[in-house]
Parts: sequence; structure tokens; C-alpha cells
Amino acid sequence: MSGDQASHAGHERALYLRWRPRTFSQVVSQDAVTRTLRNAVARGSVAHAYLLCGPRGTGKTTLARILYKALNCQQPADGEPCGACAECRDADAGRSMDLIEIDAASNRGIDDMRALRERVRFAPTQARTKVYIVDEAHQLTQPAWDAFLKTLEEPPPHTVFVLATTAAHKVPPTIASRCQRFDLGRIPQSRIAPHLALVAEQEGIALEGGVAERIARLARGGLRDALAMLEQVAAFAGPIVTLEAALQVLGLVRGDALRAYVDALAVGDSRRALEVLEDIAQEGADLRQFADEVLFDLRGALLMRAGAGTALTADLPAEEHEWLRDVAGRLAPMRIASLLRAYSEIVSATLDDSQLLVRLELATTSDWSLDPDIAPGAPHPHAEPLSDSGSAGEPSPDEPPSARAGGEEARPSSTPEAAMVPPPASTGLTLAHVQARWPAIRSRFQGSLLDKLRLDRLAPVALEAGVVTLTGKLDSLELQQVASSTGRTIEAILTEEFGRELRVRLDNRSDPGVLPAEEGPGSLGEYAAMLFGGQLVTNES
Ligand SMILES: [Zn+2]
Repeated sequence: MSGDQASHAGHERALYLRWRPRTFSQVVSQDAVTRTLRNAVARGSVAHAYLLCGPRGTGKTTLARILYKALNCQQPADGEPCGACAECRDADAGRSMDLIEIDAASNRGIDDMRALRERVRFAPTQARTKVYIVDEAHQLTQPAWDAFLKTLEEPPPHTVFVLATTAAHKVPPTIASRCQRFDLGRIPQSRIAPHLALVAEQEGIALEGGVAERIARLARGGLRDALAMLEQVAAFAGPIVTLEAALQVLGLVRGDALRAYVDALAVGDSRRALEVLEDIAQEGADLRQFADEVLFDLRGALLMRAGAGTALTADLPAEEHEWLRDVAGRLAPMRIASLLRAYSEIVSATLDDSQLLVRLELATTSDWSLDPDIAPGAPHPHAEPLSDSGSAGEPSPDEPPSARAGGEEARPSSTPEAAMVPPPASTGLTLAHVQARWPAIRSRFQGSLLDKLRLDRLAPVALEAGVVTLTGKLDSLELQQVASSTGRTIEAILTEEFGRELRVRLDNRSDPGVLPAEEGPGSLGEYAAMLFGGQLVTNES
């Protein structure tokens, strides 16, 4: 936060700024970090540089500000700032000259770091210790890091650097190794909800049961976001916030509708799930938000299934934990994984509302509609491998909506080889389908002769998450040329051929003439080699 935002008076300031923790003990949930920093201040053993890593809204810059106050407070107690002395009050009001916050997103170049180097040579104006906060530190350019490294190598006295980042892996090791690092975790729902209730009470906002819990859940571990949502809800609903009003503002579906939907998925009752989905759509809920919440529950179920349920215990209310355990018990891990993939694709795709509803309906009904033998409520036998199956809810590759045949080969179903292609898994497109159509796809390609010759030497060897991996006897320069000249065209043909968006990745590590090790005789790999393996060898020159 910039200084002028923090200096607005009273209720004009955002709720999360007014409720920003002012002492280490007020920080919600980051107990290990606050204890360590507080002890360091009390013992006079504060490091020259700290690296605070963690998701947004978990308290990184807040901790840096408290550290500044603790180091400069005139009457500190056990490493805690008093909050009342001139130094503490100046810092809280954003007036301190020696608490310098640099937003690396907009000051990321070498000149900014050189200016910083000049600046750190001067002793603090009033305070005992200057604190520089470099927020979004991962945004710095390499020359800026190099300049900053020189500063860190000869740390000026009376100066502490705090680098805050959401992407610790982008901080150069030479920098990170000179910092004391703290990882700030997402704040558990079970800590956010009571904090919201406390803030609401102090602010004179009455929250109906369930409101704090739903906001806490939606905030995904970020307290700042949670407080911003609380403020948004209260601004709409007034001093008494009903669950209905909160759900409306946040575009959420009722908790019981969400659970009814997930419960129906868990027992394979697509008809029931579809009914719930239609109700939700009728009510005008934000469908992307809904898909995101389903995703959240499915992820929880997967963790439960994987035996990592204890990781959730701290995060979820006991009752929700119990419900998720129940859901997880009814879903095979592979089924959870395929559902997860389907919903994460929906959440990350750019779709308008009507497309979104169709995709959700497809994901909801995929097993049921493609597999009429499975009665609603029956256990699901599907345990499709993760490696080469597409996502649930995709159209079957046998019925591409826009199949435009480029020649006879484009209809492999009329050839004897096609009979060997296994029927599509309920989740849709598999590598075998792409491999079976590959000759047709190649024949549709309209490019230069050279490009065609290169393409003839490539073959699909993997399909994962909508990405087809092509490999072949091309050197890396040729692969680069394929990628730049024909990659997009192949993607377009694939997408048209299978009626779903597919991307292409070129890989020169493996040789398609050699079958992948895990595929033995009689496997799809052998079949694929039979289909076009000979061609690959003869084209080699
Ligand atoms: Zn003080």
C-alpha cells in the first residue's frame, strides 16, 4: 500500500487498511514468523535482509511495517512496538521518512536500484533503523538484481531490507542466499472466519450464520481479500448481512445447492446434478465462481483420498471436513482426477455465460450420456488413465462438429485399421484417436513442400491436458522452423478435426521409431507404429 492510501482518515479508508495488524501478536495465523521476528528484535539479532514469500494477502508488507515499528519504537516490550510513541504513530499513519516502500512492479530497472544504492548510504533521518520494503520483488530485472546484490554484499548499517514476493522461485539464488527467508502460508479458513466475525462485530455489522464461513472459503487463504469482500457485502446489505444478501453480492450459490450438486456427482446421479445445476443457473449465480467452488471441493476430496486429509483439518470447519470425507469415500481417485481436470478446464477457459453453462452441463452429464448402461446411483467403473485421456465433457472424437475431410484418409472409420482403434473413453479424446487420424491431418496440411516433408517425419506421441506432443527425426533447428512456420496451422487442423481446442508441443528428445518403454507389444504404441512407423523410416534421408 502506498503512503497516501494509508493516510486517509477514519472510515474513508478501506476496511482491510483499518484492520491491518499493528503488532506481531495481532497478525492472524503466521505464528512461527511473528515469533521469530519478535525474538530477533528483542535480542537485537535482526538480519540485514529478509525474504518474505507467500500468496497475496497473507501479511508480507504488514509484517515489514511492524518490524520497522518494533525496531524504532521508543518503548518496545519484548520485541513488540508500543503503538503509542511518536515513531509508532508516524509509521501507522504512513508518515515515517525511514520506512520506504518500493513497488518493484513499477520500479524494476537498474536505474531504480542505483538510486536505491545512493539512498541507502545516508543514515536514517529520525529513526534508528531504516527499513526498505521491496514489494513484488520478483518483478525486478536482472540488471536491477545485480545492482541490488552489491548493496546486499556491503550492507549499510542501520538498514534492513525486506523483499516481499509471491513468486520466490524468481528471486535469484545469489540474493535469496543473503536473506533470511520466511514462507507465509495461506491463512486457514478456520482462522479467517472468526477474524471476520470479530471485525464485523467491532464495526457494528451483524452477520447471519454462515456468512463469515462462506467469505472465508472464497478468500482462499488471503485475509486482505476476505476483508475486502466483507466490506463489499456490508456496503450492499447494510448493518445486517443475511446469507442470501451475501451470496447475491458475491455471486455465490447457496451452500446446500453446491453440496447437493457435488453429492449427486459423487454418487454418479447426473440427472440430479443437472437439475441442481439448472436451478443454480436460473437463480443467476456466477457460474464461473460455482465451477471454482466445485473445483475446490473436488480438490479437497482428492486430498482426502490420497490420505492427505489431515492437511485439510486445520483449514476447514469440522462439519465441512466430515462432509468432504463422505464425498471422497464415494469417488474413485481416477474419477476425482478426471472431474478435477474437467472443472479446471472450465474455470480457466475464456467462455461467455451461455458457453459456460453448456460446458458445465457436459461435465455434469458426461458419464451418464456417453454410457447409458450406467444407471444413476450405480458405482462408476471408469478408471481411465490420466496420461492420454482428454477431459470429461468433451465431444466424442467420432462426432467432430466440424469434420471437414481433406481426403479419403480423413475417414479412418472406413478403413480396416480404424477398427483397431479402441472406442473412446467416456472422457473423450485419447492419443490413439489423434494417432489414427494423423495421416489425414497431414494430408490436409497446405504448406510448402519443405514444410510437408518435415511434417511427414513427425508423429504424435502424447496427449495430455489438450496438448499433443509431436516428435520425429528432426534436428532442433528444423523443429524450430516447424514450430514457427507450421505449428499454428497444425493446431488449427487438429482443433477442427476433433472439435476441441488442441495445442501442439514439439519435442526432439525421443525418436518415434522407438516405442515408449512402458508400451509393450500389442499396445497402442505398437499400433501407432504400424500405422505410420514405416513411413517415418522411408522418409528419413
Ligand atoms: Zn512505539
